[in-house]
Amino acid sequence: MRAWTSPEVPSLPVTGPAVRVHDTATGALVETRPEGPARMYVCGITPYDATHMGHAATYVAFDLLNRAWRNAGHEVTYVQNVTDVDDPLLERATRVGVDWAELALRETQLFRDDMEALRVLPPAHYVGAVESIPLAVAVIERLQAAGAIYQVDTDLYYSVTADHAFGDVSGWDRDRMLEIFGERGGDPDREGKKDPLDCVVWRGEREGEPSWPSPFGPGRPGWHVECTAIALEHLGAGFDVQGGGSDLVFPHHEMGAGHAQVAEPGVSFARAYAHAGMVAYDGEKMSKSKGNLVFVSALRRSEVDPMAIRLVLLRHHYRSDWEWTDDQLWDAVDTLATWRRALALGAGADSAPVVERVLAALATDLDAPAAVQAVQDWVEATLGTTGLADTSDPDAAATVHRLLDAALGLSL
Ligand code: ZN
Repeated sequence: MRAWTSPEVPSLPVTGPAVRVHDTATGALVETRPEGPARMYVCGITPYDATHMGHAATYVAFDLLNRAWRNAGHEVTYVQNVTDVDDPLLERATRVGVDWAELALRETQLFRDDMEALRVLPPAHYVGAVESIPLAVAVIERLQAAGAIYQVDTDLYYSVTADHAFGDVSGWDRDRMLEIFGERGGDPDREGKKDPLDCVVWRGEREGEPSWPSPFGPGRPGWHVECTAIALEHLGAGFDVQGGGSDLVFPHHEMGAGHAQVAEPGVSFARAYAHAGMVAYDGEKMSKSKGNLVFVSALRRSEVDPMAIRLVLLRHHYRSDWEWTDDQLWDAVDTLATWRRALALGAGADSAPVVERVLAALATDLDAPAAVQAVQDWVEATLGTTGLADTSDPDAAATVHRLLDAALGLSL
């Protein structure tokens, strides 16, 4: 399916350092070493509601990785999916009385518009679950050939014991897996399963639900195997970074890696698993079930500068859990006004140190708050709020302008 329009990204006068990210599987900061283009897969939305600030934080985080790689001299192959058929989407469509496919189209378009407004670089492959059903079927057949699939009624299940590395992505013990599995779409209590943690890879046709023909009978694929199939098709196994929100660590990324490692033995699914923190509002994690959502599109409609939204996100380290408040937005609006004043001077404080600090910060586990602080220091030096105005670099504003755009995605 179509992605969104890419913003122009200026080039920088220097090349950034090698990029390190925190890998959930090892719990350590690992240096990414792309061979050829850097390959990244980030799990996309289920389009039944507008993009909330939790989504925006995740996609801006991995946009920083995309940009850090580009600034380090790599090409990037970025793949993102759209879960355009899934239980929550079908339930919402039924509840509000619209066709599920229409709802998915509409919300996916809203997501594209939000991403464009936030200057998130589009994926090279933006792939829907529905259009990928043949890919998922092919992966399920490979899992079947490996003896990892069994049937319960008209559904097919994947045996978690088929992957010797099961548990390595999350590092969780079985008790914790069991507790969370049911909360996040799993069915630990289903009769007839060999292991409560086994996950569905093919859901047989149900009354009133859309279904597609397959060698296993009519139905639709499970969510985990969809992502595995799309990633293997467009990136191949052993790609550089699997990304998503921290609520995808288990079961989604654990199962996805397992499917790939059983389908293609001997190769790790991804080299690193990176996860963005959760955003809260009114004291609780932002979620559709709680209804405590701040929508990017709603802020855009009320004429909020999308760059101010992006700056709020950049001021929180991507791995931290944090709470959105409107005060942070107004503060970001003020900050951008000050930055624009400094940039309007043309000359300013020496730009070489701020370029170096920003690129180094982002290459060190996407430390956007440190990068923002480096820009703030340059602005203060340029405007003289820390003493005399510094205008020692005649081209400083042009350089910092490009830096903000290329590294942080802020076009001022
Ligand atoms: Zn996924």
